[in-house]
Order: sequence, then C-alpha cells, then structure tokens
Amino acid sequence: MPELSALGVAVHLLIATPVPADVDLVMMAAELRRIWQPALTLTVDAPGTVPDGGRTIWLRFADTLGPDAHARALGWTPFTEGRPGAVITISPSRIRVVVAHGPSRPCGRRTGSGCVTRLSRAVARVAAHEVGHVLLGAAGHDRSGLMRAGLDRNELLDPEPAGLTLPAGIRNLLRDRKALEARAGRTGQGPSSQ
Ligand SMILES: [Zn+2]
Repeated sequence: MPELSALGVAVHLLIATPVPADVDLVMMAAELRRIWQPALTLTVDAPGTVPDGGRTIWLRFADTLGPDAHARALGWTPFTEGRPGAVITISPSRIRVVVAHGPSRPCGRRTGSGCVTRLSRAVARVAAHEVGHVLLGAAGHDRSGLMRAGLDRNELLDPEPAGLTLPAGIRNLLRDRKALEARAGRTGQGPSSQ
C-alpha cells in the first residue's frame, strides 16, 4: 500500500538506453506526466541527467523482457522477494505489434507523423503502468484502470481513454488528502495526529 507521503513527490524517470527513433520523447513525457499528475510530478529525464532530489526510476527500451514476463507483456518490472526493482523495461517492438495490429515495423522517422504519435502515446501508457508497479510496490493487477493486466489497443491509443484511471489505492489517498486539507482549512491549522 502506498503511503500518504508518497503523494506529491517528484518522480524522475531516467531514460537509461537510447530512445528508439520512432518514439517522441517529448510526447511520451507529456502523456506520462498527464496520467500521474493527480498524484505526483513525473518528469522524464534524458540519458546522462542527474536528478536533484525526488525518487528515481530508470527506464530501459529493450525488445527482450525479463525471464518471468508474460508472453504478451509489453513492459516489465522485476520483483525480488516481493519488492520492485527501480528499473522498468519497455519493449517497443511488442508495442508496435499491438499499435499496428500486425507485424512489427518501426515507423518512419518523421516526428509528428501519426505512427510516431500513436507509438509514443502507447509507450507512455505502458511505462505509466510499470511506474505504477514500482510506486505501489505491488506486482498484482487491478480489474480495470491503469493497473489492469494487458492494456488493450484502445487503452493504448485512445486520445482520451476513459478507463485509464490511477489505481484505487492512489485515488483513496488523494481523497483522504483532500479531506485532510479541507479540515485543516476549516480549523486554520494543519492536520494533527489525533
Ligand atoms: Zn503489470
């Protein structure tokens, strides 16, 4: 279960490998930030950046996922003795297959093309899901929303996916925080530990 203190923190997603030519890092970063924004600030940092403060998660682009990854998995977060590692792996070639509805073929290199837009959005959503595993410290999946197992083509591509909500644990924390803030506002003092 995430802690209340985990909300509002700065999370740095540090790109640890070369970025595929058909993934637009700016678009990907914007989508990742949008998904997690209700709960925290997620920044995507280019290779070589040293983040100052906050929590760092590393992202690798690699076509081969970990040995225990599901056969149709699009991304992978390793768990050791129930605890998540800080390195997530995203498979661009597997995501291309879902996005293209067919054999994997890289998009042309034209930034701003529909193919690049779709792929960047889908990659961001898979990354957002894996970030969820790390932040929640849980390998399990929800029945719906961002942490559902196997996001489908619509969830990866729809510009406004209604169902891609943050996990219930995080939403509950956000609700509790709002309630605390409202109470603090009424009494004119911060939350106490009574
Ligand atoms: Zn998962």
